[in-house]
Amino acid sequence: MIADIQEILVDEKALEKRVAELGEKITADYRGKYPILIGILKGSSVFMADLIRKIPIPLEIDFLKASSYGAEARSSGVVQLEADLSMDVKGRSILLIEDIVDTGNTLKYLLNRFESLGAADVKVCSLLDKPERREQRVIADYIGFEIPNEFVVGYGLDYAQKYRNLPFIGILKREVYE
Ligand code: 5GP
Ligand code: MG
Ligand code: MG
Repeated sequence: MIADIQEILVDEKALEKRVAELGEKITADYRGKYPILIGILKGSSVFMADLIRKIPIPLEIDFLKASSYGAEARSSGVVQLEADLSMDVKGRSILLIEDIVDTGNTLKYLLNRFESLGAADVKVCSLLDKPERREQRVIADYIGFEIPNEFVVGYGLDYAQKYRNLPFIGILKREVYE
């Protein structure tokens, strides 16, 4: 598995440090707001699990599943909702937890959706940001790391459902998906 990685972009230590920093900032911003943190499955699962333990205030969590990728290493641009929320978000403070914002198509779709569901306030925390490939004018409110235009895996991010369990963010060798 590790033989398929070309380069480690963000190692375990750097992830731990940055997640703690994001947690501290979110804690300060959301004190007294009783937010719902919504993980976008499956990519944000590892990040979400670490992040919520760095936010020691009352909060709730929920998940939804959106996909735009299929088994390709390239976005199709069409976002599909594969599993919906279990909670009512009307009037609530929502913090969406994403693994990566790439074209921005997923985020744009989700922001529209939460607006129409009547959420009081919707913000986004994304572990990674790949600004070079943006097709929509969206930006996350909290960003872990800005990364170059490379296909990355690990710490929740997959290629064809593999590599999510790598403890770091690494660039996948091109020969694996080309
Ligand atoms: P977007 O809609 O912003 O193009 O991207 C949405 C989703 O595409 C992300 O949440 C993520 O699941 C996937 N994605 C985008 N870039 C990468 C990448 O470099 N690696 C992996 N594993 N997934 C990515
Ligand atoms: Mg995602
Ligand atoms: Mg994926």
